[in-house]
Amino acid sequence: MAYIKLNSSNYFHNLDQISKKAGGKEKIFAVLKDNAYGHGLKEMANLAHQYGIKRVIVKDLREADEIENLFEETLILSQIPKGIIKKGISITINRIDDLFHLPQKSDIHLKIDSGMHRNGIQEEETEAAFKLIKDKKLNLKGIMTHFRSADDLSSELFWQRENWKKIKKQVLKFCKKYDISIPSFHSCNSAALFRLKSCDDDFVRCGIATYGYLETDEIFGTFDLKAVLSLWAEKLSSRLLKKGERAGYGGIFRADRSMIISTYDIGYGDGFFRADGTKELFTDSNKKILGRVSMDNFICEGENREIEVLNNAKKMAKHFNTISYEITTKLSPFLKRVVV
Ligand SMILES: *Cc1c(COP(=O)(O)O)cnc(C)c1O
Repeated sequence: MAYIKLNSSNYFHNLDQISKKAGGKEKIFAVLKDNAYGHGLKEMANLAHQYGIKRVIVKDLREADEIENLFEETLILSQIPKGIIKKGISITINRIDDLFHLPQKSDIHLKIDSGMHRNGIQEEETEAAFKLIKDKKLNLKGIMTHFRSADDLSSELFWQRENWKKIKKQVLKFCKKYDISIPSFHSCNSAALFRLKSCDDDFVRCGIATYGYLETDEIFGTFDLKAVLSLWAEKLSSRLLKKGERAGYGGIFRADRSMIISTYDIGYGDGFFRADGTKELFTDSNKKILGRVSMDNFICEGENREIEVLNNAKKMAKHFNTISYEITTKLSPFLKRVVV
């Protein structure tokens, strides 16, 4: 059976690197949303806990419930849950109306749009939001923003950081005016943290770097991060292909000599991308994939019992014109995870 291997020492190594940049592991929100970027939520949450991470970020209540009680704080990014919110769970406010839909005393992080124009209240709504927070007796734990161009070679990050500094000042003013205790501030994702000399917020929110990747422009140098995930496939069957015979859907691959080929139990049904056989693609064990990838298999030459399909999501991403995030996040939650 195909499986995903999770390398715990690589994960801890990446968290060490992030801690060094951020100024301590207590400053990290480890981002575990979307099944821990496809790695496996439960497994990665256990490792984060083992390392001493106190705060994590997930997508919704279902994910928060899956890792219940492991952390001091679990921040939900993309859902306003119905009813009372359990202790230890806090909610991201993505628009001002969200403030009407939460019970009193809920812990919230207010997202303020500093220029990405995706989520968060507008800067001009900050005072109105503070009034509502006071009225509705919500517990403002954090103020956050998100940078739109942290991994691109441009000055946009610095422009947005200036906006953020302005927003922070405003927030302090309104805390005083409405007698609300000063919340924590956080803005940096992985790329921003590694690119900036220092991040002077209370917390950083790191996802991709914890898993061993950064998509920053090469000009920013390389960083000492190690891939946590590798994907392994097992042989299903072998056969002799005679010279001139073709294999797989559409018969795209044609043998130029007599050869032994085998099928392996990973395909696009497992979240691996569907290579269509028109461009050479090698697995990370340097075996060429022959012809098209099917739903549950692909074909390689030889009879190896097992093949390491993937250990460098960035390389695979390049082939499919996407980013490492998508390569790992798409992997099926049903693949077995083995922590080593
Ligand atoms: C996903 C996400 C992050 C983590 O980003 P990385 O680039 O993976 O470090 C941080 N903040 C927000 C709001 C996010 O949605």
